[in-house]
Amino acid sequence: MTAADHLSWPFFAPHHAELATTLDAWAAEHVASVHTGDADADCRALVRLLGAHGWLAHAVAGREFGGAGEAIDTRSICLIRETLAAHNGLADFAFAMQGLGSGAISLDGTSAQRARYLPRVARGEAIAAFALSEPDSGSDVAAMQCAARAEGDEYVLNGEKTWISNGGIADFYVVFARTGEALGARGISAFIVDADTPGLSIAERIDVIAPHPLARLRFTECRVPATQRIGAAGTGFKLAMRTLDVFRTSVAAAALGFARRAMAEARARVTSRRMFGGVLADFQLTQATLATMAMQIDSAALHTYRAAWQRDSGRTVTAEAAMAKYVATEGAQRVIDAAVQLWGGMGVVHDVPVERLYREIRALRIYEGASEVQQLIIARELLKTHAASRPPHASDA
Ligand SMILES: Cc1cc2nc3c(=O)[nH]c(=O)nc-3n(C[C@H](O)[C@H](O)[C@H](O)COP(=O)(O)OP(=O)(O)OC[C@H]3O[C@@H](n4cnc5c(N)ncnc54)[C@H](O)[C@@H]3O)c2cc1C
Repeated sequence: MTAADHLSWPFFAPHHAELATTLDAWAAEHVASVHTGDADADCRALVRLLGAHGWLAHAVAGREFGGAGEAIDTRSICLIRETLAAHNGLADFAFAMQGLGSGAISLDGTSAQRARYLPRVARGEAIAAFALSEPDSGSDVAAMQCAARAEGDEYVLNGEKTWISNGGIADFYVVFARTGEALGARGISAFIVDADTPGLSIAERIDVIAPHPLARLRFTECRVPATQRIGAAGTGFKLAMRTLDVFRTSVAAAALGFARRAMAEARARVTSRRMFGGVLADFQLTQATLATMAMQIDSAALHTYRAAWQRDSGRTVTAEAAMAKYVATEGAQRVIDAAVQLWGGMGVVHDVPVERLYREIRALRIYEGASEVQQLIIARELLKTHAASRPPHASDA
C-alpha cells in the first residue's frame, strides 16, 4: 500500500495519474525547501515558481486565458493540492488561493475580465484573493454588511472584509458586497478590486498559528468601474457558493496531503525508534494506531475524489463536497495528532514536520465553512432528498 495507489482508482483518467506523479517529483525538488520564515516573501516566490512551471494553469479556466483546459478540472486541482500539501503547506496555499481568488472570474467573468486577469494569475504574475468574510459575518455569509452603492457607471464600496488570505500581498481582490437588489443573499454582487484602488486599505495584518499572508481590508468610498462587477447584479452570493463548491472539495484534498505526510513521518519514526529491545512498530498498540490512521486516510481519499469526479461529471456535489471536507479535515486532524504522539517529545519540537502539520491542519476545519456548517449542509440535502422520495408507507411518527 503506497500513497500513490489511489491514482489507479476509477475516478481518474490516465492523465490525472501522470499529473500527480510528475508534480510529486517536481515538488520534492523545487518547493520542499521554500521555507524562510517570511510568509509574504515565501508566498510571492511560490506563486512565481508555480506559475513559471505551468502548475497554475490548472487553477484557471479557458485555454485562451492561460488555463490548462476549457473548464476547471476538480480532480486535477485536488491532486495538485494533495501533492503540494504533502511537500509544503505554503505551496498548497499559494496554488489554492490563485484558484479561489480568480475562481469567480473563471466561472462568470466577461471576456474582458478574463483576458485582463486570468493569464497573469496562470503565469504567477498577479496574486489573487477572495474577500467574502467580515468581522460580523463568517459562517452567516448572507449577513454581510460591506456595501457597494451604484453611482453612474461606478460602484462605491464601504465596509470591511476580514481573514482574507493573501491580504496585503494580493494584486487584486474578488470582493462580495451588498448591492441591495433584494434582502439577504439575493442582494449581493461580486467585484474585482485592484489592490492599488484608492479607498482600499489594509486595516490589519493577522498572525495565525500556521503563518501565511492574512489581513483585514477596509473600503472607504472605494470607487470601482461598473465593468469590474462579475456577473449580474444580485448574483454574487450564488457565485461565491459556486466558487466554494469547487474549492471546498480541494480543501479536503489539502487535508489529505497533510495526513499522508503525517503517515509517512509516523512510519519512518516507528520503524526506527528503538525501545524495549525492539522498535516502536513492533507493538500492537502502535500497529492499531497505524491501522486507524490508514483507514482515516483512505476514507478521506474516497470522499474527496468521489466529490471531485462527480463535479467533473457535471453533477451537483453540494452534499458530497461537504462530506469530503468534513471527513478529510476532521480525519487529518486525528491522523496528525496520532503522528505527533508516535514521535513523542520530538513531535512537539518547533518546526519538525509533524509539529508543522499539527499547526497547519487546524484552520482547515474552520475556513470555507466550519465542520458544523458542513454537517448542516449534509443534513439539509438529506432531508430535501428524503422529502422528495418519501415512500407512501413512511411513518409520520
Ligand atoms: C486561516 C484562515 C484563512 C481564511 N481565508 C479566508 C479568505 O481568503 N477569504 C474569506 O472570505 N474568508 C476567509 N477565512 C474566513 C473563514 O471562512 C471564516 O473564519 C469561517 O467562515 C468561520 O467564520 P467565523 O470565523 O466568523 O466564525 P463564526 O461564524 O463566528 O463561527 C464560529 C464557530 O461556530 C460554529 N458554528 C457556525 N455555525 C454554526 C451553526 N449553524 N450551528 C452550530 N455551530 C456553528 C463553528 O464551530 C464555527 O467555527 C479564513 C479563515 C481562516 C481562519
